[in-house]
Amino acid sequence: MRWTAVLRHAVDKFAAEAKERRAHLSRNLLTMMQRPAERCPRCGSSEVHHSHRSNPVDRVFWLLRWRAYRCHMCSCRFHAHE
Ligand SMILES: [Zn+2]
Repeated sequence: MRWTAVLRHAVDKFAAEAKERRAHLSRNLLTMMQRPAERCPRCGSSEVHHSHRSNPVDRVFWLLRWRAYRCHMCSCRFHAHE
């Protein structure tokens, strides 16, 4: 195989992979957008917001992709998987 063919093959492969990555990313975004809103486990309210990582436990949860939330209605804190 000539080096130009090798180069073209590499470029094509790279382009295909980049396209696949973009498709994967948009699928993830779509899943995130379609995901129902997080709900408070105590009062069932969807009026929740992300809570800041304020302690080592939250940091561990963060690493496991569990995010801390706080409920506007009853002020309870809970974790939900991202
Ligand atoms: Zn609540």
